[in-house]
Amino acid sequence: MNETKRVALITGGTRGIGLGIARSLAQSGYGLTLCGRRNREEIEGVLRELGTEGAMAHYVQADISRQPDRVKLIEEARNHFGRLDVLVNNAGIAPPERRDILEAQEESFEFVLRVNLQGPYFLTQLAARWMMEQGQNSRGFRGTVVFITSVSAEVASVNRGEYCISKAGLAMSARLWAVRLAEFGIPVYEVRPGIIATDMTSGVQQKYDALIEQGLLLQPRWGTPEDVGRAVLALVSGAFPYSTGQVIMVDGGMTVGRL
Ligand code: NAP
Repeated sequence: MNETKRVALITGGTRGIGLGIARSLAQSGYGLTLCGRRNREEIEGVLRELGTEGAMAHYVQADISRQPDRVKLIEEARNHFGRLDVLVNNAGIAPPERRDILEAQEESFEFVLRVNLQGPYFLTQLAARWMMEQGQNSRGFRGTVVFITSVSAEVASVNRGEYCISKAGLAMSARLWAVRLAEFGIPVYEVRPGIIATDMTSGVQQKYDALIEQGLLLQPRWGTPEDVGRAVLALVSGAFPYSTGQVIMVDGGMTVGRL
């Protein structure tokens, strides 16, 4: 591969917000490693599409909630591209069933936290060690880590407490890694989307349509994966060089306090 081409690993980069990020980075010439739980055959079309946008896209079937899969993901990314400039911790799930916290089950809590919090936290550990190694070997190396959290890191929804807790924990993970990696010149950012049109929100479309109609957002429209992709591209391109550890809201003004 081209020696100077930057490479990004985007977890869950084959649909939804992750694909929006992958498209933005592909158009800027990044090599991409994407992962997800699906078979390679199911995402062939996506890889082809990213290829037409100029990206060398590489897919690893890996469940980020499983430690052996995280190790395999990093190993395969290493074998394929031999470098890693950007990690985007995007993959995440909604609770399989929305339940009031008075009725919620521990199985769902553990499942959601393993995918949304434990997975990215420890994947970052593996990627950080590799980035530190690259930094030692190449003075021009510029690593970046991005965590995709959610307005749910701050906004309480009592029918999906485990999701909110996972995102609040992930927000702290971003801060922890920002502190730990600062001495190695690796900035870490948190991107907090609001209501974005993807498979994850397709089942609650009418509910959010009504809330948007009632004035929930300052910018009265659904967010798109492209909105998030553009924000991530700005961060990883170095457009915020003096802002490590900060939160970038991509929520149409949802969380601006109003009276
Ligand atoms: P989505 O459309 O449901 O896509 C989820 C992605 O994550 C898929 O690519 C999926 O890949 C991957 N994934 C899920 N579990 C995985 C696992 N255990 N291991 C590896 N990959 C896994 O969701 P989305 O709306 O794009 O959400 C992406 C991220 O943004 C999530 O972290 C979500 O919490 C966050 N977010 C979404 C919204 C929104 O309104 N949509 C708002 C705020 C934050 P496979 O299916 O191939 O496994």
